[in-house]
Amino acid sequence: MADLADLGAPARDDAPTLDAAATDLGHLVHHRPRAVVAPTSPDEAIAAVRFCAAHRLPLAVRGAGHTTFGQSQAAAGLVLDLANLRATTWTSPDTLRVGAGARWADAVAAALARGRTFAVLPDYLHLSVGGTLTFGGVGESSFLHGPQTDHLVALDLVTGQGEHLRASPTEHPELFDMTRAGLAQCAVVLAAELRTVPAPSAMRVFTLRLASSTALLAAHRHLATLGFTHLQGSVDPAPNGAHVFTLNASLPADAPAALDALAPLDTLDGRLPGPAPLTLAYRDFLHRLDNLEHAMRELGVWHLPHPWAFLVLPASHAVAFLDAVRAAFRTPTDGRMLVYLLDRARAATPLFRLPADGDEKSFMFGLLHNVTPPTRAADVLASNAALWRATAAVGGRVYPAGAIPLSPDDWRRQLGPHLYDALVAAKARFDPAGILAPGLALSPRR
Ligand SMILES: Cc1cc2nc3c(=O)[nH]c(=O)nc-3n(C[C@H](O)[C@H](O)[C@H](O)COP(=O)(O)OP(=O)(O)OC[C@H]3O[C@@H](n4cnc5c(N)ncnc54)[C@H](O)[C@@H]3O)c2cc1C
Repeated sequence: MADLADLGAPARDDAPTLDAAATDLGHLVHHRPRAVVAPTSPDEAIAAVRFCAAHRLPLAVRGAGHTTFGQSQAAAGLVLDLANLRATTWTSPDTLRVGAGARWADAVAAALARGRTFAVLPDYLHLSVGGTLTFGGVGESSFLHGPQTDHLVALDLVTGQGEHLRASPTEHPELFDMTRAGLAQCAVVLAAELRTVPAPSAMRVFTLRLASSTALLAAHRHLATLGFTHLQGSVDPAPNGAHVFTLNASLPADAPAALDALAPLDTLDGRLPGPAPLTLAYRDFLHRLDNLEHAMRELGVWHLPHPWAFLVLPASHAVAFLDAVRAAFRTPTDGRMLVYLLDRARAATPLFRLPADGDEKSFMFGLLHNVTPPTRAADVLASNAALWRATAAVGGRVYPAGAIPLSPDDWRRQLGPHLYDALVAAKARFDPAGILAPGLALSPRR
């Protein structure tokens, strides 16, 4: 058995540490690792990967641990907690190098200090940079700018066999493309070089109430043509089985479109009376979900199981999908749904999968379930599996950060045969001992 004293990085195996690493935000999967390593330098992280490769020990990276189905866990293996790798450095006037364990809040603070920001950010800034890049990273501006992985200059990484490399479109391009949105199969990301853009000073935020699913999705498509830069829908339970349909639509307060956008909103189909528009300082706009954990604790749902599902439907099937699934959300404690517009023509990362046929537009639905009583979690997981089958049958995809059980055949369907084979082959090459991503197995373990 491998002796952890030879690891080359500080490891802990006390019960509280192992228990904390044996759960995530989903509270559904509980795999106890053998130890947790929190490297204080990239060299220690590299040593830990090499140790695992040499001893064929499963290794899962943990960023902020917000996955919901054990994706950041390693049964009897090593959890590599990257929280200490969070340094930020400018490598050019518009490129910020960020340690993969940094939260997006850290990256935003460094960027804003120079008047810069990122084309796409998650709605919740307390996710890690490495964590969202593992899946692509979707934000309210993704309908214009694709996933976060489209805005990478380069990745500093260590492969599953312990090779330390810089990967970019021109250096190890295959590894670059198999690592961004690459489901942690081939490499551990140590740092990301992120392209930045000028930051606006303030955002004008419109909160539109709509009468139906049809009106909500049509408004997304219409507002995308009016100069809005950020769109996010939500569907919340209301009394008597009804739902509140909301579209948050924002744009820089000083953009010429900020005024032009107002008139068409007055005549939007299915618009109901709602709050007046607001102007928020840009930093406050980005941090608007900071109290999410507090709000979920207040509602008593933070520690409940969260079998969240993220499904991407071709636009032509999206209304029917939304109307079918919203019945599962009856009270605020049941959770809520989020809606993002996506556009295939604006997304370039190969492994960030969007529906391939027909309309270029699609909608990503986040089904953010809280499960009471917790024993109902199995029912919701079964329902997630059925929704995935229905989604796949109409050419849709999953966003794999959620709790949907996927078999190797499902992964082949999700990625398409060509990319599935390419990723499995890349894993065999860069992680020949198969140590990485035990919580995200694409094919049977060797
Ligand atoms: C409140 C909340 C809001 C969310 N909002 C968004 C959103 O706006 N947009 C969006 O796209 N997603 C969102 N998600 C989903 C989110 O993308 C995933 O849950 C993401 O993985 C969370 O990041 P994390 O740092 O917590 O990752 P973790 O759960 O720690 O890790 C996620 C996966 O990435 C792997 N990983 C992490 N770091 C590295 C690394 N450096 N190298 C290799 N592999 C690594 C892990 O092993 C694991 O498989 C949200 C989730 C929550 C709970």
